[in-house]
Amino acid sequence: MKKVLFYFSTIISTIALAAILCAFLYDNNAPKISILPEVELLNQNTELLINITDKSPLESIIIKIIQNKKTVYSFSKKNILKNSFKLSIPLKDYPLEQGEISLHVTAQDTSYYPIGHKGFTRINNKYLLDITAPTVHLFKKNPQIIQGNATILQFSASKDTKEAYVRVNDEAYPAFLQENGLYLLILPQHWLLSPKEFKPKLYAVDNAGNTSITDLLIPSQATTFPPDKIFVTNKFLNKKMPDFIKRFPTGTEYLEMYLILNGHTRAENRETLKKLSEQTATSPLWEGTFMPLPNHNIRGYFADTRSYFFEEKIIDKQRHLGLDLVSIKNADIPAANSGKVIYAGDLGIYGNTVVIDHGLGLQTLYGHMSKMLTKVGDTVERGALIGKTGISGLTGGDHVHFEIIVHGVAIDPTTWWDKAWLRQYMRYEK
Ligand SMILES: [Zn+2]
Repeated sequence: MKKVLFYFSTIISTIALAAILCAFLYDNNAPKISILPEVELLNQNTELLINITDKSPLESIIIKIIQNKKTVYSFSKKNILKNSFKLSIPLKDYPLEQGEISLHVTAQDTSYYPIGHKGFTRINNKYLLDITAPTVHLFKKNPQIIQGNATILQFSASKDTKEAYVRVNDEAYPAFLQENGLYLLILPQHWLLSPKEFKPKLYAVDNAGNTSITDLLIPSQATTFPPDKIFVTNKFLNKKMPDFIKRFPTGTEYLEMYLILNGHTRAENRETLKKLSEQTATSPLWEGTFMPLPNHNIRGYFADTRSYFFEEKIIDKQRHLGLDLVSIKNADIPAANSGKVIYAGDLGIYGNTVVIDHGLGLQTLYGHMSKMLTKVGDTVERGALIGKTGISGLTGGDHVHFEIIVHGVAIDPTTWWDKAWLRQYMRYEK
């Protein structure tokens, strides 16, 4: 009896052990195949990344790329005996042509209990391969530029172009497709960049991601910016700093406040203007010359290097990125050109400020207003009354601080009043 019981329990435990082993080895999942990128349109630089994983070790893999019924790429491997397998195929290494291609991947695992085709996966993907970068053709002949100013570019680009822009060092300036099928782009040359450092390149990117890069040979004229001196007095600080006192912890000295406003706040305000530059119309809203403050005197020029003195000591140095235009007190400020108001409010050192967008990244700024007579969203005509000159912000004397800004880069406004300059630098075909 004992013997029977012994045999019986041995059989039971053997079956149990086998069941545990089977459960452990059992794999009813076929290999998982993932293919990146998950797109239908491929370009000349695409690398197909194939990743195969399985619960049990992989047995065999076959990968093929076929174009026009020809196998252009082929890979096969047996006895892999690993749970995962990765492969990258850089398309440019193979003789592929523009057009349709298909990718076939099959993978088989070593599972002991394949049910039907469960240990086997096959993927067939179809793609469109575009290996042609867009071509661009510049329309405007012999564009020129002046350091600290801008020029307009007009060009055509292949139909499947998705975006076009010009890069200068780390900055990118976007082009806008117009109804006539041509692109327009206003290109600034930052006042800090000498003609030698100014090397613009035109990029055109198509839907597949192919990019063409064209060196733009635009002759550039150097500009020197004059120095200027600003004398900060106790009288000025006592009069002005109470306007800003809420921004600082109690007990902050007026001179310290002034230096923070003149440095840190000035830089912050530039960042705000850079962000605002993205709120722009995709076609020109301006027409003809820009209008200055009537009957003005210029008290501060564009990109003056200003040295700030307090009690005969130099305390700061900053660039003045606009024009200070002086007329009578509370003089009417006209919109320099037609556009849309995108900012009307307090802007740090510039006080009550209005920014008008004229399209294609071109904007004008009016600072230190005593009164703002327009609001965000208003469409304004050239010459429309938008506010009154004043002393709001970091200034002592009644004037308007006027700027022309292209894609967030301040440029010299004086030339924009001049018909001949505009004809040479800003004319385009309609
Ligand atoms: Zn100013």
